[in-house]
Amino acid sequence: MKLKTTTLMTITLVIICIGNLMGQEKLVNSIQKENITVNPNYDDEIGAITTQPKIQQAFLVIKKLEQQNQKELIMLTEIPAPPFKEEQRALKFFEMLKAASADSVWIDTAGNVIALRRGHSTNRTIALAAHLDTVFPEGTDVTVKAHGDTLFAPGIGDDTRGLMVVLTVLRAIKAASIETDANILFIGTVGEEGLGDLRGVKHLFSKAGPRIDAWIAVDGRSISRILHKGIGSHRYRITYRGPGGHSWAAFGLANPHHALGSAIQYFVKAADVFTAKGKRTSYNVGRFGGGTSVNSIPFESWMEVDMRSQSPDRLNEIDAILQKAVQRALAEQNRMRRHGPKLTVDVDKVGNRPSGEYDPESPLVQRAIAATRFFNTEPELGTGSTDSNIPISLGIPAITIGRGGIDGGIHSITEWWMNRDGHLASQRALLILVAEAGLAIDSTGTK
Ligand SMILES: [Zn+2]
Repeated sequence: MKLKTTTLMTITLVIICIGNLMGQEKLVNSIQKENITVNPNYDDEIGAITTQPKIQQAFLVIKKLEQQNQKELIMLTEIPAPPFKEEQRALKFFEMLKAASADSVWIDTAGNVIALRRGHSTNRTIALAAHLDTVFPEGTDVTVKAHGDTLFAPGIGDDTRGLMVVLTVLRAIKAASIETDANILFIGTVGEEGLGDLRGVKHLFSKAGPRIDAWIAVDGRSISRILHKGIGSHRYRITYRGPGGHSWAAFGLANPHHALGSAIQYFVKAADVFTAKGKRTSYNVGRFGGGTSVNSIPFESWMEVDMRSQSPDRLNEIDAILQKAVQRALAEQNRMRRHGPKLTVDVDKVGNRPSGEYDPESPLVQRAIAATRFFNTEPELGTGSTDSNIPISLGIPAITIGRGGIDGGIHSITEWWMNRDGHLASQRALLILVAEAGLAIDSTGTK
């Protein structure tokens, strides 16, 4: 049993690694060159905020914290947070937010960790969030190995570093006594990756969640990128089932693996043609398995498939290509069987991320553009598949910004992160957040 799990995990990781070698990781967040409209009013707004002594103090605090928080990044990374099993890391993050003196901190029924810092004069609430979960299955070695300045460990960048940015911004706001008009929620979400299907953020924006008027996710590396569009995705777990039996004695029974292999072949051939032109669309058979031994006809064969597109229509079309391939392979294998019952197939939709676009001329995007320009960085607008997909699809202001530093091997076991000017990402996050939340005037009349 143990051997089977380990083998399966190795296969999964190998597939993930091959995906990375082929540049698949870039599918997570892709940047298209968009013409950016810059509204100079927001440059003025950001410029005015940065002259405030409290903001300057917060920037200094961030610079200092970023030199010290490597230990905490390593500690958080070494608490495994596989999909659906984020509790341990959530508890630690809860403690860290509590120690950073938020007004209140709680874990909601979905498992999200939420810290509130109260605002002064409005009922608006702005959220700054990173995700707690990683793509790595239970049992993955998450020990951090340092080679010089480079830290190697699965999940160290995506998105454990993002959690550190959220925490650092809260600490700096507190240390510099920055008061805002709007309430701020500092959040660690569950279920961002893979089959988590954004369940944390879906809960936050459901009736059960708190009121959130604008959402800033910290995910991805770059401090020039502002993701304001969500890539839609469909994900399936497809399982062929049959009676199974002895490879010699029961030969002639319909074979689920043979059907699955054909389904992959039919799907990939047609999907390759479909995705070669038109709006960018991707497909990936990420995992497969089943079977008991080399001399047994398996009783089941399963695979997990991910398809993404910037266009909802194209997503539906590639979905139809998959469905057709699955049914064609089923019919073919049933025709080939010489005795016994027919195979069946279960097609479970295990992921559905909506796509959408948030207006690039809206205040939140313009503030992010201005804050990026403040750091002498050329802003880039882009498309991603992150927690922001949910608010974006609901028409709520939302962007995803980078966690800074430099990284590589995201979603592979060779993932690494290095703190090269990491403070800039936290300073930029703070600036966008404070601009969106509004700097409150204190009793002395200064901001
Ligand atoms: Zn991520």
